[in-house]
Amino acid sequence: MSLGEFDLIETFFWRRPGQGPHRAVVGNGDDCAVIAPAPGMQLAVSTDTMVEGRHFLSTVSPARLGHKALAVNLSDLAACGAAPLAFTLALTLPRVDEAWLKGFAKGLLDLADEHDCELIGGDTTAGPLAIGITVMGEVPAGQALLRSGAQVGDDLWVSGHPGEARLALDAFRGSLHPGLGTEAFEATRLAMERPDPRVALGVGLRGLATSAIDVSDGLLGDLGHVLRRSRVGVALSLDELPVSPWLAARSPDERLNCILAGGDDYELLFTAPPAQRERVTQLGAELGLVLSRIGQIEAEPGLRLWRGASAGASEGRQAVPNRWASFDHFKGAA
Ligand code: ADP
Ligand code: MG
Repeated sequence: MSLGEFDLIETFFWRRPGQGPHRAVVGNGDDCAVIAPAPGMQLAVSTDTMVEGRHFLSTVSPARLGHKALAVNLSDLAACGAAPLAFTLALTLPRVDEAWLKGFAKGLLDLADEHDCELIGGDTTAGPLAIGITVMGEVPAGQALLRSGAQVGDDLWVSGHPGEARLALDAFRGSLHPGLGTEAFEATRLAMERPDPRVALGVGLRGLATSAIDVSDGLLGDLGHVLRRSRVGVALSLDELPVSPWLAARSPDERLNCILAGGDDYELLFTAPPAQRERVTQLGAELGLVLSRIGQIEAEPGLRLWRGASAGASEGRQAVPNRWASFDHFKGAA
């Protein structure tokens, strides 16, 4: 690594005293960072890598890319109910482009500061653009939210409005007919390029939710992980799915495809006992976040889609065959 690249690391990624959180015993610039969770807390650790062309389009601004690279990792912490502590950054760059680095570091470190998450080290190499982040959080011992905890009779909830990121991606691909108007395009593009990790929701769900997962691969696909790990099934009401105004304007087919199979949403999908409905609703109100009750966990493995009944109710409901790609995830459920 050339001296120029050391300068690059120092210039763009090291914080000065008084800038950003400082909680590592030894931070950025030594051979290792040294860090400990608070007494009684456990460390939650997760890694996500983003590669140009595969996880993001070359049209994304460097600031939004920096934001998203950390956001997708914070989203994993959120899904475990962990509060962010620190992260490392493995950066592979095709060239040293100072304007790009400045924008990227700003998007990344602004989000890090917002969540009090310290950049404690990393690695910088030359090659095709890729960003690997390992994030560390803390959660009271034994309280991490897992995929395996869903119980028969639990409500199934989802935060926010999944599907918008997929709508934007389809607009970029030119596969939407009719296309999106400017306002819809910019709004859904923001959802795709600058997702808001549901960290406060995850922390608030400790002791309340029985299981949780973040929606990165599509709602049904990620739901499948919870069902398999928890050895349960679900009755999901299509009428209760949250529909953003941008998706409401699309055809029913396109709308459901975006919501159920879209992905890149970074909303939380979680289960909680019906006795906790009020507390969950109150948490959503406190956080200014739409939380929708979309189904109910059942003993029979697999996924059953319904129309014409609210979540959990069996009266007047009609079965809807599952036509969404991520259904395959449900094969071999239980
Ligand atoms: P080593 O060869 O000992 O692994 P490096 O030359 O890779 O050290 O990195 C020197 C220091 O700079 C280390 O403390 C490392 O954590 C930090 N660092 C390297 N790249 C980054 C980066 N992209 N962001 C933050 N810190 C980084
Ligand atoms: Mg190194």
